[in-house]
Amino acid sequence: AELFGPSRRNSAGVELGDAQSLAGLLAEIRAAAAKPVPEAVPLIDGKPGTGTARDVLSPIDGNPVGRVTEGDAASAEKAMAAAKAGFHAWNATPARNRAASLRQAADLMEARRGPILALLQSEAGKTLDDAVAELREAVDFLRYYAAEAEAKFAVPTALPGPTGEDNRLILRGRGPFVCIAPWNFPLAIFTGQVAAALVAGNSVVAKPAPQTPLIAALAVRLLHEAGIPKTALHFAPGDGKLGAALVAHKDVAGVAFTGSTATARAINRALANKDGPIVPLIAETGGLNAMIVDATALAEQVADDVVLSAFRSAGQRCSALRLLVVQEDVADKMVEMIEGAARELTLGDPRQIETHVGPVIDAAAKERLDAHIAAMRSAGRVTYAGRTPDLPGTFVAPHIIRLDKVADLAAEHFGPVLHVVRWKAGQLDKVLAEIEATGYGLTFGLHSRIEATVERVVDRLSTGNIYVNRNMIGAVVGVQPFGGHGLSGTGPKAGGPNYLARFATEQTVTINT
Ligand code: GLU
Repeated sequence: AELFGPSRRNSAGVELGDAQSLAGLLAEIRAAAAKPVPEAVPLIDGKPGTGTARDVLSPIDGNPVGRVTEGDAASAEKAMAAAKAGFHAWNATPARNRAASLRQAADLMEARRGPILALLQSEAGKTLDDAVAELREAVDFLRYYAAEAEAKFAVPTALPGPTGEDNRLILRGRGPFVCIAPWNFPLAIFTGQVAAALVAGNSVVAKPAPQTPLIAALAVRLLHEAGIPKTALHFAPGDGKLGAALVAHKDVAGVAFTGSTATARAINRALANKDGPIVPLIAETGGLNAMIVDATALAEQVADDVVLSAFRSAGQRCSALRLLVVQEDVADKMVEMIEGAARELTLGDPRQIETHVGPVIDAAAKERLDAHIAAMRSAGRVTYAGRTPDLPGTFVAPHIIRLDKVADLAAEHFGPVLHVVRWKAGQLDKVLAEIEATGYGLTFGLHSRIEATVERVVDRLSTGNIYVNRNMIGAVVGVQPFGGHGLSGTGPKAGGPNYLARFATEQTVTINT
């Protein structure tokens, strides 16, 4: 905590191990879950836009959680026009005031934790652990970016110059930003993108993932209530077609996107082809995240860290472990321990406190994962299959699949499926080269007690987030700035000290005094 000033302290979260605070939390969630969820509708200057209404279904049981109105082309056009009109007044608002609204929103999120956690569970299928961690991350993003904006945007940086000349560097907003969030962190990443864009002085059109518009709508309401003008923050629920219309709009001044590599490429193309300003893309996409384990690693710790990294959140994190690369001499023992630890996982309704692994996000995700597992089973490669619970939701049990080499993992499988390959002593450099050759660079794990190996791996790999002798998920805002490069994104680190600058323009002013 001493690393941070008081304004930068991370959210206290909830102590789930304490019976009393857990009981209080569960009571708040239950009370909120019993109430109807407000609809998600397009919001343009705070007024409802046009579109098509449908139910939002829960991955837990397929039942409706609430209703969303998905914006049409007319509503996208109106949202962009409103964001353009709202930009200058917001950009002229002192950065201190913009930051104050973010802090207010953080306080409101903590105060309204019941409805937020209830929706994270019903709409996104999150376990209590994951929902609490996600709320905490959203709050952290708000406070961290508020502090960053105060430090870097509130006062111009004075620069040296000859006598009689006053030089300053000023950071300003770019214009209307389009923020496109994923369903796997429908609150934290949605809030992080929007907060960063807003506090840097941009107006925002925010598009949530089609699977999770309700929690995003709740976040927008809180941000408005916290003082973000309705002319600065507009809400555009909808599918990929709506997203495509937004990013192709000539007035877009920047895009923040988290999702698939293919969509990031499509956005890049749209930005290159559109009229109007030439603008940046801040993209965080997927990964073929590997963990290397050598013969000196502590087997029990490896088993815990592998199971957590591969199967927590049902493997639906960009950061999740996809490929375990274990030294042959210890592989049988390690894999056996990992399977033992996987067997201890409870799958089921994520609202039950004892559940470790909830459902995957929707039927399409389950179909894709089931097809991959079936193909691997026919190839005789499945070495461990968890038991899928007999429940109506979209459940996929943890699976472990043996491959011959790193290159055999051709695609990211976004769920609780771990692939394992073995390497022979003396071939570390070859394995590292194979991992680099995938072209992805999001997260990487290493378990080794040899200092020279740790140094060699860190020197050799350019991966965005490297974790040594621990699990490789759950980057903490301000502590492990998060993001990758190559096929994994354009590189900016969410929750890091260089993030806000990517949302800004820099202006140099020289005054001859
Ligand atoms: N920041 C998250 C983590 O470290 C992952 C974010 C994502 O899945 O996009 O686990």
